[in-house]
Amino acid sequence: MHLDEEVDENGNVTKQGFDYYLKPMNCPMHNLIFKSRQRSYKELPLRLFEFGTVYRYEKSGEVHGLTRVRGLTQDDSHIYCTRDQMKGELKSILNFVLQVLKDYGLNDFYLELSTKDEKKFVGSDEIWTEATDTLREVAEDSGLDLVADPGGAAFYGPKISVQARDAIGRTWQVSTIQLDFNLPERFKLEYIAKDGTHQRPVMIHRALFGSIERFFAILLEHYAGAFPVWLAPVQVTGIPVADEFAPHLQKFIDSLTQETVRCEMDTSDDRFGKKIRNASKSKVPFTLIVGEDDVNKNAVSFRFRDGSQLNGVPVDEAKADILKVIKSRAQVNNAEDFAEATK
Ligand code: ZN
Repeated sequence: MHLDEEVDENGNVTKQGFDYYLKPMNCPMHNLIFKSRQRSYKELPLRLFEFGTVYRYEKSGEVHGLTRVRGLTQDDSHIYCTRDQMKGELKSILNFVLQVLKDYGLNDFYLELSTKDEKKFVGSDEIWTEATDTLREVAEDSGLDLVADPGGAAFYGPKISVQARDAIGRTWQVSTIQLDFNLPERFKLEYIAKDGTHQRPVMIHRALFGSIERFFAILLEHYAGAFPVWLAPVQVTGIPVADEFAPHLQKFIDSLTQETVRCEMDTSDDRFGKKIRNASKSKVPFTLIVGEDDVNKNAVSFRFRDGSQLNGVPVDEAKADILKVIKSRAQVNNAEDFAEATK
């Protein structure tokens, strides 16, 4: 893209423009950072990470919601390590990736291991075997189903990917961990080993969410908008039964906000029943209701997504319970879930 050029009315260039290029991936830039100065074995493993924006020229008919977009944000990481460190790094990366996905409530997934295409590969047999065996070993340790993808690896290294199933049964490739024996060669990456010799590092590409936009879309579909409390954009909606009870509720809501709970108070002119319906439609996990009884007892009443209620919970207890549920990352759709999560 040629940008920032200025021309006068006769078409003469009065200010030179510049050429800009869309960035399709982050790896080369991380390689340049690695190469920006001499590296010692003491710096390895060197782990670079960024939320990098990248661009794809998707045809207009092919863009789709948040899952296929032209500009996206990768949670992209590149790890440079020695051959000896490779195994340990792969282990810790895969375990980390699985743990984080579980934290997001994605439990229905399997792993796919893409192995060497015997006709097309770079790097020694030995390093392929070691890397592939390590990936397989870590995958088996995870207890997840492992699907073989023989010959499916890119020529530059074996890959393991996490395929997640969403609530309506679709499978999405989420995380990928890719060994790369090629780019370090092409970029002539080197480090100084303990014995003073120049050695080539092993490079690992790691994306955890793939793209933030796509991962967000997967979560939205997976939960059909009814997020676990810690992920819900609004965690608590306050609805007083009548205006006179609003100050009591507002005080409680303020104390939650102080603890960084994401709260809203419905102060609209809608009738009570309408407010309840609106909260229900928005799939907010906790609707807090306050009536005369609650004010007298210094309590609040909970209404959950399925319409079940828990009445007259003392404010201190209510606050502690809400914070506990958020911290535990539990999903709460009804009174039973709440009781379970606050036990
Ligand atoms: Zn990469």
